[in-house]
Amino acid sequence: MSNSAFVGPAWDLESEYPSLDSPRFRSDLEELTRSRDALQNLTSGLKVPDGGAPESEWVEGVSVVQKACAIRQRTDILMRNLASYVNMLLSVDSGDAAASKMDSVLEVMGASLTQAWNPADLWITLAPGSALESYMQDSRAAEERFVIERRRLLRDQKLSLAEENLVSSLQVTGLNAWGTLYDRIAGGLKCSIQTQEGLKVMGAASAQELTASAQEPVRRAALEGITQAWVAYRDPCAAILNAIAGWRLEVYRRRSHTRPVGFMDCPLYSARIQPETLEAMMGVAMREGRALGHRAYAAMARAIGKKRLDPWDRMAPAPALPGGRAPEPRTYSDAIGLISGCADRVAPEMGEFFRMMASKRWIEGRVMPRKLPGAFCTSFARTREPRVFMTYQGTPSNVRTPAHELGHAFHTWAMRDLPIAQCYYPMTLAETASIFMETLLNDAARSSGDETLAWGGLWEESHNAAAFLVNIPMRYTFEKEFYEKRASGELSADEFEELNGRHHREHYGDSLSGPDPIFWQSKLHFYISGISFYNFPYTFGYLFALGVYAQREKLGPKFFTAYRDLLRDTGRMVPEDVARKHLGVDLTKPDFWRDSVRIAEKSVAALERAVNERFA
Ligand SMILES: [Zn+2]
Repeated sequence: MSNSAFVGPAWDLESEYPSLDSPRFRSDLEELTRSRDALQNLTSGLKVPDGGAPESEWVEGVSVVQKACAIRQRTDILMRNLASYVNMLLSVDSGDAAASKMDSVLEVMGASLTQAWNPADLWITLAPGSALESYMQDSRAAEERFVIERRRLLRDQKLSLAEENLVSSLQVTGLNAWGTLYDRIAGGLKCSIQTQEGLKVMGAASAQELTASAQEPVRRAALEGITQAWVAYRDPCAAILNAIAGWRLEVYRRRSHTRPVGFMDCPLYSARIQPETLEAMMGVAMREGRALGHRAYAAMARAIGKKRLDPWDRMAPAPALPGGRAPEPRTYSDAIGLISGCADRVAPEMGEFFRMMASKRWIEGRVMPRKLPGAFCTSFARTREPRVFMTYQGTPSNVRTPAHELGHAFHTWAMRDLPIAQCYYPMTLAETASIFMETLLNDAARSSGDETLAWGGLWEESHNAAAFLVNIPMRYTFEKEFYEKRASGELSADEFEELNGRHHREHYGDSLSGPDPIFWQSKLHFYISGISFYNFPYTFGYLFALGVYAQREKLGPKFFTAYRDLLRDTGRMVPEDVARKHLGVDLTKPDFWRDSVRIAEKSVAALERAVNERFA
């Protein structure tokens, strides 16, 4: 067998655009520009009445906003189609100068489209009920009902138009600038790391990679180097966190003119869930889940020959199975066959779809010098054809990656006939199909007797249990207490460190030898200016996907239809409604979440057994 059998194929993008210079790409770009101009013309004349204006003033705008909606739906598809293509080109060749240039052209285009649409958006958000209903008479507008109703939930938080404009314009050099400052600090960090070849100085990203080394001294030196580098920035980090949260709390205070707006309102709105759902989910994660995460860490510690894990071991890879055969590389077509075979067991239709993805060359898997690392699933908005990006080299984790990404592709495919406005799902539901496929593959590997694949799967799943049930809940409670405290004043770097240590100890207990003292500094997610509480949706998504998987046994032959229909509704219903309609479960109650933890428990128990048998 030639070596090329272990390397992934090139994806086919030509069916969409032959190249950036092709007539098809050019004509789409020209149409997009014309449509953007038409939208600008239309909405610049739109009058958005004041709060107390009579109904008749609103009705005047109906036909203009309907026309604007039709144009915007067209520009949405063109913009996404072109941008996805350019992004795909840059992913396989990050040095593609023409694609980079087009990327900036499209970025400017995107901003001007948002601005052109803003007046219509404001009209839709603020219009009184009857004017909105006449707007919805238009079939294209009606397609967006769910999204519109969501936006209108924020009506009673709106400030005056002048104030809204002031906030969003000051935000660029205010709130966002703090995020940029953090990115600059993190990007410029110099970590000195003691390696076998002597002291090496490297950036935080490279140092972070070393924390996943198979050699403990390397992991340890890497975390020590990162810690030392961050310690110099304790005060700036504290100032940034205080400023970001302080800005938000002040805006929330001003938005509280009709009802109190709390710091959780905005993240819950983005996640599209109710506070009761978050409480039920986090409650189960922190009660039943935490203990499971500790068991996972204990078993992992034994496998790498330690009593318990140290903070630098959290990313340790699976050690080789004693007495096991060295893993043989798996060919690309074998991997696709394996994944499709797993999917066949859920429904032949799903397996067929994966085989079609491969035969139509909708998967990119080559090894190339300027290719980006990582993997993702994207799609063309016009044809709704998905594309999977990854680098395939035949390792066991190379088999799990396409399973995850093909899961995403199936999600896109299940929605392909829906209006595009109904296809945007929140982060809480985004990983449903991908984690489902990974779980399916890991389950199949355990019963197939493929020792290496099964062992890698157990390690990964146990690692996930600890990450999603211990680490993420810790970030959530840390951030929550920080916001509560910040409401009455700034916190010092010492206070952040105390808070960080206390939440580490509460969640990790004895499962780790000690806290990661600079976690509050090094975790980028606390410093994103665009979104707060970038943590609980991860645990939600993980447990939700496992909970869906758990329904396979319960629903038997009815499962696949329920699963596909559930995926189809992820962009047009809130998670609570999706779960009630398709699975008959109530997300505000702990039971559903307990079923999810039970699925994770099976993997951790299997890891424990494997460790007892093989690493005694
Ligand atoms: Zn994913």
